[in-house]
Amino acid sequence: TKIIMAICVVLIAVKWTAPRFDEESLRGARVVVTGASTGIGEQLAYHYARFGAQIVITARREKVLQQVAEKCLSLGAQKALYIAADMSSESEPEKVVDFALEKLGGLDYLVLNHIGPSPFTVWQGDVEHTKWLMQVNFFSYIQMAWRALPSLEQSNGSLVIVSSLLGKTTSPFVAPYSSTKSALNGFFGSLYHELAMKKSNVSVSLCTLGLIDTEAAMDKVRGVVNLPAYPATDAALNIIIIGATRQLELYYPWYTYIIVVTKDWFPSITNYIVQNSYNYIP
Ligand code: NDP
Repeated sequence: TKIIMAICVVLIAVKWTAPRFDEESLRGARVVVTGASTGIGEQLAYHYARFGAQIVITARREKVLQQVAEKCLSLGAQKALYIAADMSSESEPEKVVDFALEKLGGLDYLVLNHIGPSPFTVWQGDVEHTKWLMQVNFFSYIQMAWRALPSLEQSNGSLVIVSSLLGKTTSPFVAPYSSTKSALNGFFGSLYHELAMKKSNVSVSLCTLGLIDTEAAMDKVRGVVNLPAYPATDAALNIIIIGATRQLELYYPWYTYIIVVTKDWFPSITNYIVQNSYNYIP
């Protein structure tokens, strides 16, 4: 009980001392959201729209992006533009940033959120898929971030990276995905230090998410693991707040923080729980 009480006290203190979110700061903000045709990215676009931002959204499916952009305008976005791009291409990630810079005349938030589809299954040696996923989920992120940095520097802007608990802990059936998320945490954790040490104007926010109720995620875990899923719209709002308040880390939902903090204290118990959370017959 003492440990649990201490954790609760720390959580409450962290919540109380967090910087205040001023939604007015997002009015007119120039934002790029990737992976915005569905899931958390779509919800990110709608929240930014309600806050009156100027948004560029991207994903592969142009028709769906067009519908999301129309809804953004009806919700109050000052601008809602879209560009279809495939992040598995080596050149398209940078084109998206160039498009946004041209259309918005600069950038305040680069919110990197997209992921390529990856099977939820035992690793069976598909190295090519892992390389492809690395391009989609990781290399495209660093390409876009590098392209956007000069303009974020000018605007006192923010880089927001949507990562996962699976980038901080290990779990079965997600080896390629987990690798890409660990790579993101490593890369952007290092970049954060470099920017801070050169007193850069750019903030970095890394978002550690647990299970969120998007269609893609629910399709994968249904019948395999029984975990509570948290709403995508709430996850998206928390991501926006962490970026707008320029904080380094988001843990959403709350239990992700407990897992990250305690997993190294009790590795055997943690591994036992992980391996017994799945319905798996070899
Ligand atoms: P979804 O699978 O619902 O959405 C993925 C988005 O990426 C879609 O807009 C998709 O659009 C786009 N996309 C897919 N492939 C490509 C590609 N090759 N090039 C460009 N865009 C592509 O994901 P979620 O909303 O569930 O997840 C969003 C983020 O949250 C991810 O970073 C994920 O890792 C993270 N997260 C999610 C969790 C969850 O439980 N949902 C848990 C932990 C982290 P299109 O098909 O049109 O290209």
